[in-house]
Amino acid sequence: MTCRDLVELVTDYLDDALSPEERARFEEHLDMCEGCREHLDQVRTTLAVLDVMPETDAARGDVPGLDALLDAFRDFRRG
Ligand SMILES: [Zn+2]
Repeated sequence: MTCRDLVELVTDYLDDALSPEERARFEEHLDMCEGCREHLDQVRTTLAVLDVMPETDAARGDVPGLDALLDAFRDFRRG
């Protein structure tokens, strides 16, 4: 699994939507990649903040802050 693959799967991981095989590869990558651990923490924090906002349900599926975060991470990885 590459960093880009991991970024694509972060929200599914946090939703517990990955297959056991994907989850194993995801966690294997996390073990060896500090950047992705930090990214996961950022996404988790962002989702936690969104969770306490009243409009979360309406915004789910189109979360501008999360998209920006994921885009920023992709740019960072691309160098
Ligand atoms: Zn990584």
